[in-house]
Amino acid sequence: MDAISQETTVGAAATRILADLVGIASLPGTPNAEVTDCLASELARPGVRFTTIKGPEGDRTNVFASIGPADRPGYILSGHSDVVPVAGQDWATDPFRLTAQGDRLYGRGTTDMKGFVACMLALVPEFLAMDLARPVHIAVSYDEEIGCRGVGHMIAALPGLCGPPMGCIVGEPSDLHPVLSHKGKLAAAVQFTGRPGHSSDPRLGLNAIYPAAELTLVLRDLAAQLEVEGPFDPQFSPAWSTLQAGVIQGGQAVNIIPALARLEFEVRTIPGVSPVDIAALVRAAAERIAADQRLGLAWEELSSYPALPPPEDPGLASLLSRLSGRAVQQSVSYGTEAGLFHAAGVPSVICGPGSITRAHRADEFITKSELGDCLSLLRRTVSELCCG
Ligand SMILES: [Zn+2]
Repeated sequence: MDAISQETTVGAAATRILADLVGIASLPGTPNAEVTDCLASELARPGVRFTTIKGPEGDRTNVFASIGPADRPGYILSGHSDVVPVAGQDWATDPFRLTAQGDRLYGRGTTDMKGFVACMLALVPEFLAMDLARPVHIAVSYDEEIGCRGVGHMIAALPGLCGPPMGCIVGEPSDLHPVLSHKGKLAAAVQFTGRPGHSSDPRLGLNAIYPAAELTLVLRDLAAQLEVEGPFDPQFSPAWSTLQAGVIQGGQAVNIIPALARLEFEVRTIPGVSPVDIAALVRAAAERIAADQRLGLAWEELSSYPALPPPEDPGLASLLSRLSGRAVQQSVSYGTEAGLFHAAGVPSVICGPGSITRAHRADEFITKSELGDCLSLLRRTVSELCCG
């Protein structure tokens, strides 16, 4: 086959696989057998070592596949198979059917990030045909969109699946710019439980709204302290770790002593600051307030991932920049699984097709040319990293 017809064939394969993936409404927090079967049908072929790694939920799995020598360290290409819901969004097309209009392919997850996943899978026959001196691993996680809940189970299983990986490319949408870092995040909900009663005598109940309000002010003061005292990292905007109260709910009527109040907040931290440590300060304050007022307290972590610090060795990012013709970007405002790979000792760079500005919105799309650019970048990157 000549180069042009091979290019057309792999492009058509990527579009077909993308259509299959978009056709599955793989919402996070739900069983994912259908999307796992779809990935398996592309990966279960001679020469591919294919594994699924079940999460503790029992009904959803990560997918991990390796091509090339088993006994040598290699590189991971990483994506997630879940997509955010479409409820409340006004789509011009069926979000769960890939719809072509000109160069654009519309559908939920086209950019975030089934387009990248489709590119990895479409290249499997080419990876198999390459003379790989190092393995290439294809990793697809579940439940990324609700706080990177799935990938941790796959990362924990890595030592049994392959040699220590030399690097990881997380294909979140970055317009194929290699991205070095992002902030970490933790979101949590705090619920105070008091005692209801008639408002005519507030002494007869325990008002749960007051402690929620007190904790809100603790959050505000802690956020102000971080802004003034740092630590700071000028690579981010803002350059400090931030904290915000996002949702507050409580009470039923003005003449009932409110027995329940719930506060949801998030913290976003620069590299070197643990979101878990900041959240622990909030939790300690909540426990103090609850104990002082003899209230019930429930704490629920909603999502958490660590920051991705810039890599010590910029080699992988430089290679991606050279091969994509796109500049290295210092940081992005969104979070990814790259922070978790990094925390497990795998140097990680974010680099994927499409723009993050289209993600999570109505009429999400990717273009055929973006898929084509991603295919050629992955082909050349794997060839440089793993051959010879
Ligand atoms: Zn994503």
